[in-house]
Amino acid sequence: MFAKRITPALLAALAFIATATPPVLTAQTGSVSPVAPKKEQVQAAVREAYEKFRSDTGGKNADYIPYLAQVDSKLFGIAIVTTNNDSLTMGDVNYSFSIQSISKVFTLALAMKELGADKVFDKVGSEPTGRPFNSPIAVVDMTTHSGNPFVNAGAIATTSLISGKDETEKWNKILDFYSKAAGEKLSLIDEVYKSEAATNTGNKALSYLLAKYDRIYADPFESVDIYTKQCSVGVNALQLARMGATLANNGKNPATGEQVISPEDIPHILSTMAMAGLYDGSGGWAWHVGLPSKSGVGGGILSIVPGKGAIAVFAPPLDEAGNSVKAQKVIDYVSEKLNYNLFSPSSVGFK
Ligand code: GLN
Repeated sequence: MFAKRITPALLAALAFIATATPPVLTAQTGSVSPVAPKKEQVQAAVREAYEKFRSDTGGKNADYIPYLAQVDSKLFGIAIVTTNNDSLTMGDVNYSFSIQSISKVFTLALAMKELGADKVFDKVGSEPTGRPFNSPIAVVDMTTHSGNPFVNAGAIATTSLISGKDETEKWNKILDFYSKAAGEKLSLIDEVYKSEAATNTGNKALSYLLAKYDRIYADPFESVDIYTKQCSVGVNALQLARMGATLANNGKNPATGEQVISPEDIPHILSTMAMAGLYDGSGGWAWHVGLPSKSGVGGGILSIVPGKGAIAVFAPPLDEAGNSVKAQKVIDYVSEKLNYNLFSPSSVGFK
């Protein structure tokens, strides 16, 4: 009965549609949108952004962690990984930088995997603080005290939720989880860890403030130490983009095929990134760029195009809020050129 409706004219029309728009980034799943930007367009946008912003001198390396002040501020790398595991790189993509606050996304994912999203929401919260990422005032002022998992207080509280018989077991579990998201073994940059551990009095203070309000769930200083280690994990731009592609791909690493994060947790993670991923710069970022993203004071920013892929940019100089100046410019440019803004009706993504 259905076959009767397939006329030769319809077949010809279908064949035309199939050939008129060649597939974009090689799709393992075969699900390529006919209106998605072609691979050449993605490459051109990334190349243009790289050339346009490579000499930008805005911003300044973080220096409250002494190691970060020494990093070459001219380093600049861009990587895209799609949910089909296609990748595209430009610039210093082999340089291993500290993941810093971008780690908070993946510890949140692990905590949700262990406890369920509702419990994590109860114990940490999800409200943007509107204050700097290390603000003790937010801890005092906010009814949740911890704010959300992407400010330092909320992130330390989230880390304190990870189970394990001792600090080593908890830390190894976190590192192993990050490695699964990246699809390859990641490791600690020991010098970053030592530099931050020697100077993180502010984070220790936050952990004790949380204890005052009963909003930390393991020993405060142990939690800060594990948190400091997670921030000191080294990633290059490609590894970071692959971690993002795992989020974009509903929690399944597109390179290894492993289901690392539970699909039902993805919307909670991405919405938190959209609300608080760039600290007190998050509102402006959502307004202009419209992609769930997370920054780190090491100079990385990771942005997710759900269901499509992720872009990671690394460039150390930061703005006042602690977000990489060049990374913001690149992602803004590429997203605008290729119509990635999730809130735009014409958003098409990578494929
Ligand atoms: N490790 C850093 C800190 O605790 C992370 C902050 C960040 O990247 N915004 O201050």
